Amino acid sequence: MKNGKIGVTTENIFPVIKKFLYSDHEIFLRELISNAVDATQKLKTLSSMGEAKGELGDLAIRVAADKERKTLTVTDRGVGMTAEEVDRYINQIAFSGAEEFMAKYKDQAIIGHFGLGFYSAFMVSDKVEIVTRSWKEGARTVRWSCTGTPEFEMEETDEEHDRGTTITLHLAEDALEYAEDSKIEGLLRKYCRFLPVPIVFGKVKEWKDGKYVDTDKDNVINDVDPLWTRKPTEITEEQYKEFYRELYPMSDEPLFSIHLNIDYPFHLTGILYFPKIHNNFEIQKNKIQLYSNQVFVTDQVEGIVPEYLTLLHGVIDSPDIPLNVSRSYLQSDANVKKISSYITRKVADRLQELFNTLRADYESKWDDLKIFIQYGILTDEKFAEKAADFMLWKNVEGKYFTPKEYTEKVKEAQTDKNKQVVFLYVDDPEEKHTFLEAAKGKGYDVLWMDGQLDNHYINWYESKHKDERFVRVDSDVIDKLIQKEESMKMSLTEAQQELLTPVFESQMPRDEKINYHISFEAMSPDEAPVVITQNEFMRRMKEMAAVG
Ligand code: ADP
Ligand code: MG
Repeated sequence: MKNGKIGVTTENIFPVIKKFLYSDHEIFLRELISNAVDATQKLKTLSSMGEAKGELGDLAIRVAADKERKTLTVTDRGVGMTAEEVDRYINQIAFSGAEEFMAKYKDQAIIGHFGLGFYSAFMVSDKVEIVTRSWKEGARTVRWSCTGTPEFEMEETDEEHDRGTTITLHLAEDALEYAEDSKIEGLLRKYCRFLPVPIVFGKVKEWKDGKYVDTDKDNVINDVDPLWTRKPTEITEEQYKEFYRELYPMSDEPLFSIHLNIDYPFHLTGILYFPKIHNNFEIQKNKIQLYSNQVFVTDQVEGIVPEYLTLLHGVIDSPDIPLNVSRSYLQSDANVKKISSYITRKVADRLQELFNTLRADYESKWDDLKIFIQYGILTDEKFAEKAADFMLWKNVEGKYFTPKEYTEKVKEAQTDKNKQVVFLYVDDPEEKHTFLEAAKGKGYDVLWMDGQLDNHYINWYESKHKDERFVRVDSDVIDKLIQKEESMKMSLTEAQQELLTPVFESQMPRDEKINYHISFEAMSPDEAPVVITQNEFMRRMKEMAAVG
């Protein structure tokens, strides 16, 4: 038996660990299982290199909660550790790593998903025991335990133990929830759902004679081979959809998927989806799950993907996103910036490809896609540049055009005397029916702009295109500024109009700040004889005031 002191200088770091990030105590389980996965993968590598001889046997990682004994155990059949390795990796390195980490981030509000590692077990335990036997020939079993003081006990014994490591947590009184099966199963499903080694938690249950009983089948928590780790060329459209249903069981089918896959200058894989949004939607952010080597890390991806892409769904897996740092650090991290612009480029390329090759399909999904793309345009300049060629405008006939196509289409008839191309638009074709018909009667085309972001988008577009502007179909501009055909004839003489104007004016609201324009310019019997429009500038002022 060897008693010793773990390699730290801080007198007692455990209370600090315990208090630290109390809201995120649960990540201890992720840390222990990640270690078990690492140990298993190492063994597989050794075996494939011919160093570890013989059959590896069942490599599943087993987790068990015991309410009576107040324990939680994690057992793997990986490489295990010799006494010397426990001393080095557990007593020295792991702990000094934890200590360094605490020293560095004690005073910061840090992202709750750091990798404190093995010692995070002390956030929930009064005592932690390790029993381990190395894969190496003739290795003896090693027992180690520590009660949350800087002292530990360690001994080599001749007791039988499988190759690999069993970690037993003796749970603290305020952490007994981790001895509950349902709690542990929930955490395993959250963090371990896509780990590459099978994680077994008890047996599959069966309904029999009015109650659930264990079958003899292992209850495997995870899918060891999730879709994003496979080659895009080997995946069918249906499999992408199926995976989406697995991630978001209650959702509608996604519009598109995008498979991310890059090795250089960083590693990143993943699948992103454009979800279908309902008209009366509340935009659901933070549906993207972030993984690091298939270990769930967080679904708070702000700062890692561009803001507008937090509207997308799916998974991103990258071992290169630093997780043990504060959020503000993360946002300035060079790798994270590269990752963010890579994702933007991938998303834009995919949209462009869909537009080029499957335009009809793209158009059929446009009404749902529009909000993402406008949001991207408004918030990300690089994306806006790329989106110029796959942004669409819809007219009241339900036809779709890129801005370029549309400008070509209307500029002939709709250029005003200042040489600005005027895009007429309407938010509610039914309500503005009269104005719409009047505009159509004059041979103008009208866009249908009823989206949440349309006003912002219009302002953005006008700021980028000085010789083009948007005008509402019910504004006075339509009469004053758009080139009229020479042959257009008035239905009333000027004298008649002068006579009638005060009659209508007397019926208008007495708001002096608002200018109205009254015209009697019907060109055909199906147009309204009198049209009253509001000054476009005043209208926008009013709208801004209402929004502001
Ligand atoms: P990290 O995983 O980042 O190295 P940890 O604190 O989680 O840090 O673990 C420290 C070290 O302890 C690991 O690198 C590994 O060498 C050893 N270790 C921990 N758990 C196991 C295990 N289940 N099997 C084998 N070695 C382990
Ligand atoms: Mg670890």
